Amino acid sequence: MNKNSSNIMALAPNTSNKRETVCIFGTGDFGRALGHKMIQSGYPVVYGSRSTQISNLIPKDAEVLGHAEAAQKAAVIIIAIQRQHYNFLTPLAEVLHGKVLVDISNNLKLNQYPESNAEYLAQLLPGSKVVKGFNTVSAWALQSGTLDASRQVFICGDDVEAKQMVMNIVRGLGLTPVDKGSLLAAQEIENYPLQLFPMWKFPIFLSLGLGLFFFFYSLALDVIHTYIYENNNFSFFIAITVPNRVFPVMALTLLGLVYLPGIFAAIIQLYRGTKYRRFPDWLDKWMLARKQLGLIALAFASLHAVFTLVTPLRTFASWRTSKQIISQVLSNETVLLNHTNAWLSDSYLAMGILGFFLFVLLGITSLPSVSNSVNWREFRFVQSKLGYLALILCTAHTMIYGGKWFLNPSAYKWYLPDIYMLSLVVPCAVLVVKFVLIFPCVDKPLTRIRQGWERNPRYSE
Ligand code: NAP
Repeated sequence: MNKNSSNIMALAPNTSNKRETVCIFGTGDFGRALGHKMIQSGYPVVYGSRSTQISNLIPKDAEVLGHAEAAQKAAVIIIAIQRQHYNFLTPLAEVLHGKVLVDISNNLKLNQYPESNAEYLAQLLPGSKVVKGFNTVSAWALQSGTLDASRQVFICGDDVEAKQMVMNIVRGLGLTPVDKGSLLAAQEIENYPLQLFPMWKFPIFLSLGLGLFFFFYSLALDVIHTYIYENNNFSFFIAITVPNRVFPVMALTLLGLVYLPGIFAAIIQLYRGTKYRRFPDWLDKWMLARKQLGLIALAFASLHAVFTLVTPLRTFASWRTSKQIISQVLSNETVLLNHTNAWLSDSYLAMGILGFFLFVLLGITSLPSVSNSVNWREFRFVQSKLGYLALILCTAHTMIYGGKWFLNPSAYKWYLPDIYMLSLVVPCAVLVVKFVLIFPCVDKPLTRIRQGWERNPRYSE
């Protein structure tokens, strides 16, 4: 063989990589979007439709035929049609016999039907191999190419070979198939797109409840009390002052609540002398919500930072400053710089800035794209060690803000502690118990328990 002929062979198309034709029933939104993506990825597409007229919306290189005719051209048929129309498939049972049918349908409500749509399709066409998939991908994301955030396609089915064929197509489209097992998993997969922030419910309700409580608490002490006892109408505090007192309190309390369940878990494990018994349900749920609680805390901390930056622009701030200057002028005295106060205010700001920086770092490392690129030890270092450091800095920031006021009776309006004092309760409790937990006499047994040691082993050798 001469040199030229070997070059020609290298350029010849590799026929073994040729994609199999895929049939799509339904030329609606999803059928068209999936067809576009398939043609882009090199799959010949044939549509099965009630109307064989070609419209502009249908991908240019696709064929449109009647259902029976189209089905004969492919081994895999995607059913891009709503469940309520599945009856039209029964007369096609013979043509569809032995074919792989991909059910991509979703419902309008959770558990709308007694069985999943895929199981219903399998009952209608027992001679076909039904696979569930693609239902968690939206037509819009397919068409616009914005699938980067979620490349996973959940797949389930009883026939292993059929499932493999569909998973190969998913890979061929540049997506990642996730095998969820048999067709029994279809109900769960169909429920995925209908869930409304399932992991966020508890953190959002908790934040809402706490936020409202702190808002009215601050309103009572900072606006209503001042109005009643000092005859000052500071109702405009509702716009900036009150929120900017609530935001840091929320951020610190929620950050404390991120670390509190870990403390409870450690105490429970130490008390039980084993890690092999399940935590109570409430603790399990709380542990699972830590990331969301942390992100909400970060949102409040960011709002606090922005609201604080605008302080010098406020009319109230310039009025107060000029009032102080005028009073010095009138009394003909110069207030000397108080070095203690200067130190306190600078340290308070430095702690806040450093705490916020670490807080942002924690938020960034919780993003899947970042957390997937660090190993478990690095993730734990950031989330645990740096997380505790953030908690310490933010707690110190709040304590220095309070300064001498903790012991001053005038700080207790209506005998109630100021709002920032409330925000110290959870973080201080967490930090004190954590301090006890890192003592070697407590840390050693806890580490052994976490490595599998049991005080009273159930299964002794
Ligand atoms: P669609 O735009 O309404 O299209 C449905 C298609 O089904 C119609 O274009 C029609 O195609 C066919 N059809 C309608 N009535 C029929 C009947 N009586 N008999 C036979 N065929 C009939 O709906 P879609 O948004 O594409 O959704 C299709 C399926 O994909 C649904 O089950 C949906 O849950 C699922 N899904 C959609 C999305 C999405 O983002 N849209 C995402 C995931 C899953 P012909 O006129 O060509 O026959």
